Amino acid sequence: MRLPRGVLREALIDVEAITENVRHLRTLTGSQIIAVVKADGYGHGALRAARAALEGGATRIGVSDIDEALALRRAGVRAPLFAWLHAPGASFTEAVRHDIELGVSDLDQLERAGEAFAGGRPAAVHLKIETGLSRNGIAPEQWRTVFSEAARLERIGRVRVIGVFSHLSNTSLDDDRAALARFHEGLALAAAAGLNPPLRHIAATNAAITLPEARLGCVRIGIGMYGVSPLADRTAADLGLRPAMTLRGAVAAVRRVPAGTGVSYGYDYRTERDTTLALVPLGYADGVPRQASGRGPVSIGGRRFTVAGRIAMDQFVVDVGDHPVALGDEVVLFGDPTLGAPSARDWADAADTIDYEIVTRVGARVPRREVEA
Ligand SMILES: *Cc1c(COP(=O)(O)O)cnc(C)c1O
Repeated sequence: MRLPRGVLREALIDVEAITENVRHLRTLTGSQIIAVVKADGYGHGALRAARAALEGGATRIGVSDIDEALALRRAGVRAPLFAWLHAPGASFTEAVRHDIELGVSDLDQLERAGEAFAGGRPAAVHLKIETGLSRNGIAPEQWRTVFSEAARLERIGRVRVIGVFSHLSNTSLDDDRAALARFHEGLALAAAAGLNPPLRHIAATNAAITLPEARLGCVRIGIGMYGVSPLADRTAADLGLRPAMTLRGAVAAVRRVPAGTGVSYGYDYRTERDTTLALVPLGYADGVPRQASGRGPVSIGGRRFTVAGRIAMDQFVVDVGDHPVALGDEVVLFGDPTLGAPSARDWADAADTIDYEIVTRVGARVPRREVEA
């Protein structure tokens, strides 16, 4: 198969797959979905991912930081938006003015949320409590103080506590159950302080699938909505999910070479016989991990090949033997393995990382193009 003329490299985004993945996870969990589109929608495009997720029944959009939330609001997303990682000391005024819900991880952030109320509208906050991940989140010894201050600010109309949340380590089911037990202790203390948040959420995709008691009627779904499995021992297809991204390029040069030809920087690879080399115009600037040099898989004309030698900034080489390959032929790095493509997981394994990183790091130089279902 040839790529359309003029296409060097692109990431095809199957928006319908995102919608269907959200719909599937909503049915599976029986819970409200906070669709997580941080980091430009894990590389898929934050706005299109948000719209596709809302189409699939998500009720709220989650991002890491306020700038990501503001960009979505300005682009016309009207659904509730939620951001939880903040610049130290930053003002929340603009966020509150644009109706961005704030994750609050300490007393200082709570006070700043209380000061940010705009035009009589209280800041909507989700109190994040530490339950064992050791990142941010209100420390257990601060729970009483922060909860009672939140209740006071709520009574005077400065904040509205719409959620209490935490995040799991996915170390083991037992570790996650222990964190969940601590979460319930926190919820009980919050109730005792007079808080009655409509939302409680702790599960991301992994626990939403594997730990039903962690669903609590509201789950934060990131990787699963993109059709990538967070579980080491189960594929996306096993989970009823469809990968939304296909990364591909057009064969940009073809040459016939004799046995013993060195390939790419450092000659880590030398041809063993007369063979054909095909040049693939994607490199580590495009998110193809250099770590996968000599190991990463591609599919050309339905056949599997492996990267020959080092992956460079813009390109790598594949030894295709005597297989007929022509300029412009499609090279698929990863896509839907049920359709014969390598998977993001294959690249993750080749680079000693996780598939989250493979999709999220696809570079800004790679155009995203939406495909029809
Ligand atoms: C990224 C993130 C998520 C989504 O996690 P997935 O494993 O991609 O589903 C949920 N909650 C928080 C706090 C996150 O940072």
